This record gives sequence, structure tokens and C-alpha cells, in this order.
Amino acid sequence: MAGTADDKAPAPNAQLLRGQKALVTGANSGIGLATAIALGRAGADVVVNYVAGADEAEKVVEQIKAHGVRAYAHQADVSDEDQVVAMVAQMVEDFGTIDIMVANAGLQRDAPLTDMTLAHWQKVIDVNLTGQFLCAREAAKEFMRRGVVEEVSRSAGKIICMSSVHQVIPWSGHVNYASSKGGVGMLMQTLAQELAPQRIRVNAIAPGAIRTPINYDAWSTPEAEADLLRLIPYKRVGDPEDIANAAVAMASDLLDYVVGSTLYVDGGMTLFPGFATGG
Ligand code: NAD
Repeated sequence: MAGTADDKAPAPNAQLLRGQKALVTGANSGIGLATAIALGRAGADVVVNYVAGADEAEKVVEQIKAHGVRAYAHQADVSDEDQVVAMVAQMVEDFGTIDIMVANAGLQRDAPLTDMTLAHWQKVIDVNLTGQFLCAREAAKEFMRRGVVEEVSRSAGKIICMSSVHQVIPWSGHVNYASSKGGVGMLMQTLAQELAPQRIRVNAIAPGAIRTPINYDAWSTPEAEADLLRLIPYKRVGDPEDIANAAVAMASDLLDYVVGSTLYVDGGMTLFPGFATGG
């Protein structure tokens, strides 16, 4: 997947993020990986966060550096307060500041309600929701300290919360995940309202079905893919680059007046496809 990121690059945007410093969590796989590379291609220096899989993270770093920008990998668990604080502090030391936080790391621990353990509920909430809170908080502190630097961006900083269509679509057998993403929606809107006066833009991207390891079973066989396509009016499963391109746009000054929005990148999955043939 990493090798295809460049093929889909929108060439005119090559330097849209020149001089900006970005951190992407969970950036050694799937959507985070593609987003980290796309931000680097758009001119940003990038910190590649990972929790496990140092080799993959180093490969992402090399691909980003090939675009002539700086990059390094940083291991941290986004649900651990001390590790997130240290990660952002290290970035400020190494890169001077942070302009873009992509709070992307996430996971699933699926089970029907009556089989779901408290540990699986808590793990998903800790990573998917508390992790985004911690990352947003640490980035916002630095955005406020530094303020707007006009030559870099019209905004003092951008926080992009990786949400999901399950921010609004209930999902049986995944109550921990759907609750975490519903929470991300309100986290994002509340932070957007609170931080907008300091010229900090907080927004969310809500992917539909994207081909990554997190949902491998949903697209890896022709039967599974056909089943999945019933839910997608646009009739294709998304690629990580679809989300990465949205993240570059969301982080750039092209969308400087977009504050507190959720951009659904889902091939129409949130359009109630079951009603396409009448209700
Ligand atoms: P993925 O499994 O490929 O990537 C998830 C990444 O998060 C991995 O790098 C993983 O190591 C990392 N991660 C997990 N726990 C972590 C922790 N405690 N600290 C730091 N990193 C951690 O899956 P993906 O599809 O690329 O998912 C990325 C984000 O997109 C997630 O938030 C997911 O909920 C969201 N999303 C994905 C889809 C999809 O269809 N793939 C749809 C909607 C939303």
C-alpha cells in the first residue's frame, strides 16, 4: 500500500504544507501510514508515531525523507499520558514546534454485548478516545504557546481527529468502537468551539470502508467485498490514499475556514444506501 501513495498524488499540491511540522499517530500501518507519506510529499516534516512495529515505521520514515523533508519514528502508546507528553515535547525539541496533529491511532476489539469484557471495552475507549484527547491537549498547548506564524499558516495549528462513519452509524457487535467514535465526534466539536478563538482548527475525517489491516476480513475475499459494496453507493472500497488526500487538504490553508466539521470520506456510506431502491 505504501508504494502506491505517490501514484495518486495531486501534483499541484506538492508544497501545500511547506515548512509545517506534523505528527501522525499509528503511522506505520493503513491510513496513518498513507497520511504520513502524503503530508511529507506536501512539504511537511513528519513524526511517525507507532506503538509496535519499528521496522514498518522506519520504512515509512525513509519514504517521507525521499521527498526532501525531515522525518523520524517515535514509539509511544497514545493511551499513556506520560508517553504522549514526552512524544510532543521531543518533537518540539527536534523540529522546533508542531503545526499539525493527526490523531489517527485506533483499534477494534469486537464482541456481542454479552460477551464483551470490561477490558475490551476499556482498551478501545482508552486508545480511540482518550488517546485523541491526550494528543489534542499536548498539541494545543504548543499551538497556544507559539500562536500564528503567518509565513507558515493562517492558523496557529490544526488537529485532525480520525473518526469513522460509526461516529453516526450504530454498529451491532462493536459497541466499544462505535461509542469511542461517537465520543470522538463530540470531542472534536467541543475542542473546535473552545480553541477556535486561538486560531486553532479542530476537525474530523470520518472514513467509510478503507482497505487496511483493521478490517481485512471485510474486503479480503470476493464474497466479503461484494457484501461490503452493498453498503457503498459509489461501489468501490476506499484506499488509504483517499483518506490521506483528505487529511492534506484539511491540514492546509485551502480549508482555513473549516472549523469543527466532520468530512465523511466514505463513497456515500452515510447516505442510508438501504433506501436507494425505495423505503
Ligand atoms: P490499522 O490497524 O492499519 O492502523 C491502526 C494503527 O493504530 C496501527 O499503526 C496501530 O499500531 C496503531 N495503534 C493501535 N493502538 C495504538 C496505541 N495505543 N498507540 C499508538 N498507536 C496505536 O487501521 P486503519 O484502518 O489504518 O485505522 C486508522 C484509523 O482509521 C483508526 O482510528 C480507525 O478507527 C479509523 N478508521 C478506519 C476505517 C477503515 O475502514 N480502515 C474506517 C473508519 C475509521
